[in-house]
Amino acid sequence: MYFTAIALVLVVRAGLRALARNTIGRVTLSDSPLGTLVLTAVSTTAYAFNDGKWQTPVSAMVCNFTKPTATDPSLLSHDEVETYFHEFGHVMHNLLTQSPIGYFSGTSVYRDFVEAPSQMLENWVWNADVLASLSGNVKDHSKKLPKDLLDRMIAAKNLDNGLKYSRQAFFALTDMRYHMEPTTNTTEVWHDGMKNIFGIAAADGTHEEGSFGHLFGYEAGYYSYLWSEVFAADMFSRFEKEGVMNPATGMAYREMVLAPGGTKEPIELLKTFLGREPNQEAFLHASYHYRKSRRTDDAPRARSICRSPDASASNTIRRARSNLSPTAIRW
Ligand SMILES: [Zn+2]
Repeated sequence: MYFTAIALVLVVRAGLRALARNTIGRVTLSDSPLGTLVLTAVSTTAYAFNDGKWQTPVSAMVCNFTKPTATDPSLLSHDEVETYFHEFGHVMHNLLTQSPIGYFSGTSVYRDFVEAPSQMLENWVWNADVLASLSGNVKDHSKKLPKDLLDRMIAAKNLDNGLKYSRQAFFALTDMRYHMEPTTNTTEVWHDGMKNIFGIAAADGTHEEGSFGHLFGYEAGYYSYLWSEVFAADMFSRFEKEGVMNPATGMAYREMVLAPGGTKEPIELLKTFLGREPNQEAFLHASYHYRKSRRTDDAPRARSICRSPDASASNTIRRARSNLSPTAIRW
């Protein structure tokens, strides 16, 4: 009788847990006048520690998108839609967590992996079929974005990628140098970096580092934007192969990457989902794909940006530094 009661309690508890799990989570979308950036705020935990109850995740997106006018509804720019998808990548990361420990649930992953799911979801707004399914001419929804226009938008996005990524590498390395080397003159470090990475001397008397807001709060972690972008591109390559709306691929991504949260090392999540070691090929391909003449001589420098995510931040930084090309690391 005693064991039957225990079994019954366990069955009821499992049922309640399953019921709770049927509500995957809650998302709040609200308008804010504070800025154009969308903020995702999160509360995610799985089993409460004592009674075994499941707490469903809650995410909030606070947005400040284009307002409707007297004549038109709110018409989002492509850039705003991309931001929406980016932030929704964070929301999905939180919403689909299955971590049994709140501390490791959702976006509670290593800092240098947290932007991978968000940046990966951005890819969907550059896909003609996806855009056709969610947008159209405001007067006649059957009129879709012309393919030629989308191609030119993609070409414009990839224009001067070398400069864009040199800038990111410059910020990342300067950030690391400020945090890892005993430095007395921050301006000197900044100017050295400008000269060695861009080949352009900063103007005398300028102190641009004063406007580098990410120095605080990220603590030598600025590199993670570019670092995780490489993995975002690699993960998206599987969707490109199997179909961006393929439910089986989507479920695999959900179960293998999003659900575990921080309970597994990022490298393990990537290897499980990709079925191989991650690499930078998709990132390089995406960056160079739309150029008329692909300059393969540019590749080694971009390739040197990253390898794979590591268990500890210090190892990650050390590895990032050691993988940078000699010209990039010489200050
Ligand atoms: Zn983000």
